[in-house]
Amino acid sequence: MAGRHFLQIPGPTPVPDRLQRAMHRAMEDHRSSAFPALTRSILSRLPQVVHQTDGEAFVFPATGSAMWEAALVNTVNPGARLLAVRFGQFSHLFIHTARALGYQVDVIEEPWGEVADPARIEAALAADTAHEIQGVLLVHNETATGVTSNVAAVRAAINRAHHPALLFVDGVSSIASLDFQFDTWGVDCAITGTQKGFMLPAGLGILYMSTKALARVDACTMPRAYFDLRPMRTNNAQGYFPSTPALSLLYGLDEALTMLLEEGMEAVAARHRFLANGVRAAVAAWGLSPCAKRVEIASDSLTAVMVPEGHDARQVIELAFTRYDVSLGSGLSEVAGKLFRIGHLGDTNSLTLAGALSGVEMALCDAGIPVTLGSGVGAALSQWRVTA
Ligand SMILES: *Cc1c(COP(=O)(O)O)cnc(C)c1O
Repeated sequence: MAGRHFLQIPGPTPVPDRLQRAMHRAMEDHRSSAFPALTRSILSRLPQVVHQTDGEAFVFPATGSAMWEAALVNTVNPGARLLAVRFGQFSHLFIHTARALGYQVDVIEEPWGEVADPARIEAALAADTAHEIQGVLLVHNETATGVTSNVAAVRAAINRAHHPALLFVDGVSSIASLDFQFDTWGVDCAITGTQKGFMLPAGLGILYMSTKALARVDACTMPRAYFDLRPMRTNNAQGYFPSTPALSLLYGLDEALTMLLEEGMEAVAARHRFLANGVRAAVAAWGLSPCAKRVEIASDSLTAVMVPEGHDARQVIELAFTRYDVSLGSGLSEVAGKLFRIGHLGDTNSLTLAGALSGVEMALCDAGIPVTLGSGVGAALSQWRVTA
C-alpha cells in the first residue's frame, strides 16, 4: 500500500527517523579505549528517565520479559516465596516466569480490567508474620487490558504491613511514557525493554535496581550465568560489558535518552495523558466500553476497547490491517476476540492518532459494529484542538 502504515500496537512502537539514523553505524571495537564514553553516557542518564538516584541501571541484549528473570535470579534465593497480583496476561507471565524458576508464588487474583488492590497486598503481607515473602511482583501498566496500577499505594501497603519484601515493578509499557518515580515510590527492581516508550526496536532489556536490591546480589544463592549482575557491574564500572554489546541499539538508546530528556520526563508523561484523553473520548463517542473498569485506572499509553457481545475483535483488527493499513493490538488469552488495543505511546501525535482512529471507525463499521463515521475522530479532535 502507498502512504504510511499506522503501527498502533502497544509495542513495538514506531522508530523515529532520528533514532533510525543514530543506529545506522559501522560496527566498532567494544573493547577499545574509546568505547566507555558510550556506556557511561547511557548508564548515567537511564536513571533520570525513572527519577532514580538510589541504585543503578543495567542494560542487557534481551527483551523486557528476560528482565523479569534477571531481577529475580539476582535477588531471591531458590524456592523462596513471592507475592504477585494477576490482572492480565503480562502479570500472568511475570508469575509464570517466577514459578518456572522454582519460586513459590502466592497470587492475588483481580478481575481483568482492574488493578492491584493495595489493601489486599497489605493483608497478605500482614499475614506473613514470619516474613517468608521475599518480594512483591507488580505490573505497573497492564498492557493486555490498558490499566495502570498505583505503585506508590502498593509501596505504602508494604510499609504499613512493616514487611521487608522487595518491590519488583514491570514498567515495560510505562517507563519512558508514563510518570515513573523509582525513588519516591520505593521501587527495588524495575524492568523494561526498548521497543515501547524508548521508541527503538526490541533487543535491549533494561533493569533498574535499588541499593537495597543490589545489596542482595552477592549473597544470592540462585544459580545464574548470563543474567549474573556481578560480572555486569565489574565490567560496567570500567565502561564495558561482559559480552558483545548490541551496538546499534546502544547508539539508538543513547539518542533516545537525549530525545526524552530534552523534552523532559514530565512533558513526556503530560503528552501521553493528553493523547490518551482524545482516544478515550473517541471510544466513548463510539458508544463502546474500555476494558479498564474505571476511568481513574485507564492507561495513558494504550486503550483496550471491548467489542459488543456477538462480535469478534479479531475481525475488526484484520479489517483495519488489510483495508486501512492500521495495526491494532489483539486481545490476549482470556480476552482474545473480546477487545482490540490502540497503542498511543512513543513517537506519536494527535494527527497520527486521528488517522488511526479514522481507520478504526471504518473497520468497526465494516465489521458490522454500528458507529457513526467521524464521531470518535470528532470527539478526539475536540480534545486535541488548541483553543487557548
Ligand atoms: C511488552 C510487555 C512485556 C514483554 O516484553 P518483551 O520485550 O516482549 O519481552 C512485559 N510486560 C509488559 C507490561 C509489556 O507490555
